[in-house]
Order: sequence, then structure tokens, then C-alpha cells
Amino acid sequence: MANMIESQEFGKGDFVLLDQLTKEAFMDNLKLRFQRGRIYTYIGEVVVSVNPYKSMNIYTPEYVKDYKGREFWERPPHIYALADAAYKTMKRYLKDTCIVISGESGAGKTEASKIIMNYIASITNVSHRSEIDRVTGILLKSNVILETFGNAKTTRNDNSSRFGKYMDMNFDFKGDPIGGHINKYLLEKSRVVHQQKGERNFHSFYQLLLGSTEQTLNALHLKRDPTAYTYTNQGETNNMKSIDDKRTFKEMSGALKSVGFSHDEQQTLFNLLAVVLHLGQLEFVEEGQKVRIQNKEVVNYIASLIDSNAASTEEALLTRVVAARGEVINKIHSKEDACFARDAFAKAIYERAFLWIVERINGIIEVKLDVHRYGKSTVIGVLDIYGFEIFDNNSFEQFCINYCNEKLQQLFIELVLKQEQEEYLREGITWQNVEYFNNCVICDLVEQSHKGIIAILDEACLNVGTVTDQMFLEAMDKKLKEHEHYTSRRLVPKDKDLQHDRDFRIIHYAGSVTYSVIGFMEKNKDQLFQDFKRLLFQSSNPVIKDMWPEGQQSVKEVTKRPLTAGTLFKNSMIQLVEKLASKAPYYVRCIKPNEIKSPIQFDDKRCLHQVEYLGLMENVRVRRAGFANRQPYQRFLQRYKMLSSYTWPNHQCRSDKEAVTALIKDIRFDHDVAYGNTKVFIRTPNTLVTLEEKRSELI
Ligand code: ADP
Ligand code: MG
Repeated sequence: MANMIESQEFGKGDFVLLDQLTKEAFMDNLKLRFQRGRIYTYIGEVVVSVNPYKSMNIYTPEYVKDYKGREFWERPPHIYALADAAYKTMKRYLKDTCIVISGESGAGKTEASKIIMNYIASITNVSHRSEIDRVTGILLKSNVILETFGNAKTTRNDNSSRFGKYMDMNFDFKGDPIGGHINKYLLEKSRVVHQQKGERNFHSFYQLLLGSTEQTLNALHLKRDPTAYTYTNQGETNNMKSIDDKRTFKEMSGALKSVGFSHDEQQTLFNLLAVVLHLGQLEFVEEGQKVRIQNKEVVNYIASLIDSNAASTEEALLTRVVAARGEVINKIHSKEDACFARDAFAKAIYERAFLWIVERINGIIEVKLDVHRYGKSTVIGVLDIYGFEIFDNNSFEQFCINYCNEKLQQLFIELVLKQEQEEYLREGITWQNVEYFNNCVICDLVEQSHKGIIAILDEACLNVGTVTDQMFLEAMDKKLKEHEHYTSRRLVPKDKDLQHDRDFRIIHYAGSVTYSVIGFMEKNKDQLFQDFKRLLFQSSNPVIKDMWPEGQQSVKEVTKRPLTAGTLFKNSMIQLVEKLASKAPYYVRCIKPNEIKSPIQFDDKRCLHQVEYLGLMENVRVRRAGFANRQPYQRFLQRYKMLSSYTWPNHQCRSDKEAVTALIKDIRFDHDVAYGNTKVFIRTPNTLVTLEEKRSELI
């Protein structure tokens, strides 16, 4: 309907209203709107958003006022309308809602999530309670902190989120925010020790190096120069114009403080960042059978920053304690082992610190108000999670990320269809099913027990030391050779996309992706020697000690084999999907218009590809196969009553439903309409367009 309050020069505000649903028509409309600065378009209540790559003057308080409390069709398409709809549903019906934001890296998901949260923050707390200001303030500020520690420059996006985030906002019965909770998913920790060309490590390192005072740097034994450290110098990306590390550091440390991190906690975080940087500088040299550390001063720095002593630190870096047949022995690392252990240590420190930050924020924003006093608490969840990723070299991380997108796509299919079906049922209207590709089969390929890729990987990881990545690949080939969404070089030797023996390929719903099996097992096992855990647990810094409770376990304590990274991720995805499915969903589908961050270029091919894999055409089709438009009787009358003498200026019928029936019969649109219990359903968009035309002739 949106196009009716917007001039035709901007195209159709809702894809459902396209005269003919073809790819060309869809793309023309999307492109036209992008070029005219209309970045939002609806498919019913789904918002399609195209990244404008320039700052838009459409998020001002005037806009907020304009959309507050309105319905979708009353204003031109805007993400505010969706945020408002989610909020209204939550408040009116006391129903939990969630907003799922999807799209590939750089498409604008994180920006969208922030715009939504800002909107909700600014339309709530009419009663001006200070606790509520505190909660919204923390929710908004926590973004700055999470982005510092969880985002990085990639070739796709200068501020790419390298973790998935699901944030719940809790509301009291008045609709004011009273707390929240953040769930984080799979931080891409391999980035801590390795970056590809054109990429950076997490922002936090550069911010610390470039933004902190001379004094702080001295205390951390650091130089103000990111190129001086192995862990921050591999991507060869310095002097980034788009990133102002110095300014963001100020903002971030301000946020840490105002959110409620103590001085000691802040200091500890900086210490840990420094420890990671120093770890990357360690040089191991072989000396006969032994390995020693060339630059001992670095060990001293690390030891002092983790409040430990140099001897224990060095020992943890060079040896490991193992329990063999009841005896405890010290095993010396080879140089290779030592390097591996060091990198694992750096990654683990960073990941744990990130987790700790999230938990700390959760502790601060958890619902503290007495819910009983304030009535039932309801929730709006916002999911901003990594989009589908295809790089030149795809590894375990991309595998997890793409699996996550399969799960979300499945949820989308189920919920969008389910919701439609439920509405028809509620309204007493019969309808026909629409054909669509159900990606359930790909989810199974990854997650099924015994037969799925994660299960095969876990099985390979059980056999310590003896199984190689290559053998894992063979196991997959054996078990999955019949699967239509799996191939590998051995199965299809002539396939030119499978250039190496180490490659396998999954045909995802969004296209096929070739993964290199190298590193899968190691990343899945995600092993950190117990010695490091003990070292950190024994730290005299209470914050660090607190981060590493498992360091308490003695060497001889038989520890259960921990769950693998793949299985943990799978479980977290299944939980996430369950959580989302229990809420009323709203969708934002983000599209990246080009690869060069240009505000004017619309790359037809890339955009079409995204439209295809996001299933947007199917979405429109489903929406239209049923009915393109539906409106409560009263609303319909309000708008079209001038079209018939039965209803103009007022009707004499017993109900609005009867009046609408009379009106529609009168103007002979009966064939295209169904009458539900509370709404009138219009099948083809054209009818709506004709109605509008007739209306404008009269007014
Ligand atoms: P994603 O989270 O999908 O990877 P981001 O939300 O980080 O992508 O967006 C990438 C960049 O695109 C942002 O840093 C910003 O420069 C630009 N951008 C995205 N959405 C908008 C918007 N609504 N208005 C202006 N710029 C935007
Ligand atoms: Mg993001």
C-alpha cells in the first residue's frame, strides 16, 4: 500500500504491488528506489533495505515522531515502521516479538539493528523513570564496547561484526524497557593471530595502541605502532581513513566507564590486549632437543601483565604437564608445538575476555525491577548475525556462518508461510500452497546426528593424533557421496571449482561454497593446554582469575572431553532458532548494492544474486498467491467509502463487513476479494491499484 502515499516516481513501495512479478520488474523497482534515495521497500511486513553507503537524513526525531504509533501503510516505507510494529505487537498483545536482520557482510545489518534500538529507546520511557534511562543508555552504549572488541575490518566491510549477536530488550507492562540480555555467537577468534591481506585484527588492538595515553602504553610495554606487532601487521592495512581508532578509543573507554566497568576491570582488559600483542612477538628457537625463548623480556612483560611470575609463565609456554598412568610428567614442546600453543593461548585469552565483557554487561542490564510489581515482562529480540559468506578461501568459520544462515532461512520459510497460513485460518479463508525450495535438507546435511558433517567431524576428532584433515574428508566422501548438496574432488574429479584434493563443496540455498578442509579438525577441537588455564587461574588479578575457573582442576582430575566447537555452535543455533520461533517475527532483509561501498552504484548482478538467495521473489509470491493485500474492514471503508453510494457518506449496514461487501459488489470487484472475519482480502495488486485510481478521480 505504501506507494499510495508516495509518488510513483519512486517506484512501488511494496513489491507485492508490482503489476507483473518478474525478476526484471523486481530488480527495476529495487534499483529505481535505490537511485531515488528510497532505501526501504516492503514485501508485506518484511522490510527490504539497500545499504545507501551515505548518511541519510531519515533518522531524525521528526521521523521518529512521524512513525510512532502508525501502521505500515500510513507512511512511506521505513525501518521505523517495522520497529514500531514489533513494539506495538509487544505492547498491545503482550506478545514477545523478535526482529531478524539478515543479509551478507556489509549489507547494513548492524546499522539496522542500531537504528531499531535507537528508535525503540526514543519512543519509550514516557514516564521518565531514571532506571529506564539507565537501561536504555547501557543497551545503546554496550554496542560501542561490543563493536570495539568484536568487530574488525574485512575486505567486505570496514566495520564487520565478527560475532553474532542476539539482544533481548525486556519491557514492563507500560512498554518501558526494564532490562536486557545479550547472547553472543561464535567470535571469529582465528583473527586474533592471523589476518588476510586487506584485513585487520579486532579494532580493540588498534584503538588501544593509537588512542591510549603515553603513560598507559608505557605501563603495558607497548609502542604506539600497530605495524610493530605480528598480530596487528599481517593485513598491511594502516592509515585507514574510514576508521578513527583514536576517537573511538575515547568513546569506548567512556562507554566502559558509564556502563559500569570499574577502573580495575578496564585496566585488566587493556592488560589482556597487551598480553595478546606480546604473545605474538615471542620468538622460539631450537637448541638441540630443547626450545627456548629468544626474547625473554617479552615473557617478563606478559608475566607482569597477568599478575604472575616469569618462571611459571615461561614454563607454561614451553612445556605441558600430562598425566600418564597416574603419574604426572612434564613434556617439553617442540618448536612447532610451542608456536601452536602460543597462538591458542592468545586466541583463548581474547575470546574469554570478550565473553567476560558480554557477561559483565548482562549482569548490569539484567531485569532488576520487581517484575511482579510491574506486571508481566515482555521481550523484543533483535538478531544481528553474520550473513552468508563466501571468501576465496573458506574454512571452518565460513562453514559455521553459512550453516547459521541455512537455519535462519529455514526459520524464515517456516514462519513467513506459517504466519500467512495462520492468518487465513484465523480469518476463515482457504488458500493454496506455494512451491518453494525448502532448505531443510541442507540443515540436515550439516547437523544430523551420525550422518551429518558436524557428527563426522566430531568422530574424526575423537581419535587424537591419528586422524588428519584429509582422513576427515575421506570419511565425509564415504558417508555423503549420495547427498545431492555435497561434492568433493574425489567424487567429481573434473569439477573445476574443486581445484584441490582438500576441497569439498556444499550447495547452499544461497549458492555453492567450496571449503578447504585444512584446519577443520584443529578448529573443531579448539584445544588449549591446561597449563595455560592454570596459569591464569593462579593470577593474583581477581578479574583474570575469575575468567578462568577451570584452571582449578588438578592435572590428575579426569576431565570429561569438552564439547567440540562445531557441536557447541550447532547447539547454540538450535537453541536460537527455538527462541526465535516462539516469538512473533519481523524481518529485515539487507542488500548490499555493490562491492565498492559506493552510494550510487547498483551492481545488477550482485543484487539479483542476493534477491534470489534471500528468497525475496518467493516471499512476494507467497504473499500474492494468497492475497496481495488485506485490511481491517473499518480501515478499508475509511479509505474507499466514496466509491459507492451504499457507503458514502455513511453506510446503513449492520456492520463494517457488510458495508464493505456491498461496496465491493457495487463496483464489481467481487471476483477478486475474500471476506475474512475481521479483514477484507484482496487477491491481485491490480485491484488495489484500480481502487486507488478511482479514489483519486473522486477526491
Ligand atoms: P553488516 O553488519 O551487514 O556487515 P554494517 O551494518 O556494518 O553491515 O554496514 C556496513 C557499512 O555500511 C556501515 O559501516 C555504514 O558505513 C554503511 N551503512 C549501512 N547501513 C547504513 C544506513 N542505513 N545509513 C548509512 N550508512 C549505512
Ligand atoms: Mg555487522
